[in-house]
Amino acid sequence: MKVQKGIIIENKCISDNIYKLSVEYQGKIIPGQFFMLKTLDNSFLLPRPISVNDVNEKSINFLYRIEGIGTTKISTLKKNDKLQLFGPLGNGFEEDKLNGQIAVIGGGIGIAPLLYLTKILGKKADVYLGYKEKVYIDDEFKKYANSTTIVTEDGSIGEKGFVTDYVDFCKYDTVVTCGPEIMMNKIVDKCKENKVKCYVSLERRMACGMGVCLGCTVETIYGNKKACKDGPVFSSEEII
Ligand SMILES: Cc1cc2nc3c(=O)[nH]c(=O)nc-3n(C[C@H](O)[C@H](O)[C@H](O)COP(=O)(O)OP(=O)(O)OC[C@H]3O[C@@H](n4cnc5c(N)ncnc54)[C@H](O)[C@@H]3O)c2cc1C
Repeated sequence: MKVQKGIIIENKCISDNIYKLSVEYQGKIIPGQFFMLKTLDNSFLLPRPISVNDVNEKSINFLYRIEGIGTTKISTLKKNDKLQLFGPLGNGFEEDKLNGQIAVIGGGIGIAPLLYLTKILGKKADVYLGYKEKVYIDDEFKKYANSTTIVTEDGSIGEKGFVTDYVDFCKYDTVVTCGPEIMMNKIVDKCKENKVKCYVSLERRMACGMGVCLGCTVETIYGNKKACKDGPVFSSEEII
């Protein structure tokens, strides 16, 4: 794990306020890990955590949504510009714990860390993607997954409603999820009901990304843990 300057290969808007950023990078990354990203002009102080969306031989991709100053500034970077990369950070999805039939469930920008995982799981994964209305990078999931179900709240593309309504939880041995808290809570309850193992990737505001600032505390049955260092991926059984 180190701070380095990454050269941008592409930084393009692929949907409303959603960007795909591709940066030159070589090194081992576990799906679910993230980097702290920052522009080099110091226009914002703290780096922002963004998950690794995909890994290629000489590059990594991020998928991010513009929220505030940090992601707005990052969105202005162009091909050949450099940005500060600190990572890879955190504990990602441990492949040897993902057994049997696996459902990968993402909501909104929470789908970001699930693509690289799906690439690794391949046909073991049935993917469920929930969006408000606009759909993005669904084709990339379709390339790798056993099946991909698209759900939009208005039904304009794919099924209509909430993604959780389209998952038959009792079909699965393991569920992996990232997305809005309300969606993940529902999924955790359904997994409990159906005695299905569940792993969640949690989002917490964090300043340092490496366990020093204690800004990203997660309450667990084993006491307080840090989303940046002990997570962001946790077994649903340990979170209170
Ligand atoms: C481990 C991890 C991985 C992440 N991966 C991705 C990713 O792949 N793609 C992506 O788009 N985003 C991801 N995020 C969220 C991303 O870090 C925030 O959206 C980003 O920091 C916002 O920075 P900003 O300067 O643009 O907005 P700010 O100006 O800092 O904030 C804008 C608004 O968003 C809220 N906000 C900012 N960060 C968070 C947060 N972590 N949780 C809840 N509310 C927040 C603020 O309260 C404020 O209302 C991840 C977060 C974590 C912790």
